[in-house]
Amino acid sequence: MSTVAPQGLHHVTAIASDPQANVDFYTRALGLRLIKQTVNFDAPDTYHLYYGDAKGSPSSILTFFPWPDVPKGRQGAGMTTATAFSVPGSSMGWWHERLKSQEVDVDAPVSRDGEDVLSLRDPDGMVIDLVAADGDLRSGWDGVADIPAEHAVRGLHAVTLSERQLDPSASMLTDLLGMDLTGEDGDRTRFAMGDVGTGALVDVAAGVADRGWQAGGTVHHVAFRAPDLETMTRWQQELLSRGVQVTDVRDRQYFKSIYFREPGGVLFEIATDSPGFDIDEPLLELGRSLKLPPWLEPSREQIAAALPPLDVTPDVA
Ligand code: ZN
Repeated sequence: MSTVAPQGLHHVTAIASDPQANVDFYTRALGLRLIKQTVNFDAPDTYHLYYGDAKGSPSSILTFFPWPDVPKGRQGAGMTTATAFSVPGSSMGWWHERLKSQEVDVDAPVSRDGEDVLSLRDPDGMVIDLVAADGDLRSGWDGVADIPAEHAVRGLHAVTLSERQLDPSASMLTDLLGMDLTGEDGDRTRFAMGDVGTGALVDVAAGVADRGWQAGGTVHHVAFRAPDLETMTRWQQELLSRGVQVTDVRDRQYFKSIYFREPGGVLFEIATDSPGFDIDEPLLELGRSLKLPPWLEPSREQIAAALPPLDVTPDVA
């Protein structure tokens, strides 16, 4: 795919246990907006919760499948082991204090790959990094009462893939997906998508011996942005012609998607920017009520009855 790289990260999807704890953590402690409350289209007895900025812009989105009784997963090779969001550099101290005061499991800030990083764990033990990125001019979500807009989380910054070996994964990122190798620091190698300024980095941590196990508190897949269906279809053909097994185009209601695995085992998705999250509810009401795609709407009553109750009352500024 020696054409153009994806236009950044589109979203990251992970597995959680208790949906209420997940909503409370991401909307209150971290201050993301719940932008969609729907179900897993492939398993509609499970919620699919989407968080992001005010309108759920691509590159701002983190989503979860909460399975209340899911066992805890294990980080390891072939997995996305950290998801990083950007915050202003001057906000790092503020975030450290806030997270400690909310009894979040957070480390002291460290410098890594030339960036200041605050590493924390969500209620399921999933690793979230807050990275100081002053060049990030995105505004984030300013709808949380006790998070001043100046400190708000801006959007996705990078993902870290843990791998046994660098080379096979690096080849796919550069040769097939058109990313540039932009830095190396010990076992960590950084790849960037073209000249997209923000939310467009993939870090590979190589030399990880043990394979991980995907369950609660681990990332399920990472999605990259395609500007439109035509570009995505072209990438799909290119992947197929290089012998990569890739799915047909799936309708995810808010975007269209294809899925494939990179050589180390991490599940990748390419997702279109449109139509976006206001296709089935007004921007002001995003995330307040259960939305279903047209093909599941006839089963709404059964689906809703099987889901655990969820309090999504926004903590409005
Ligand atoms: Zn996805």
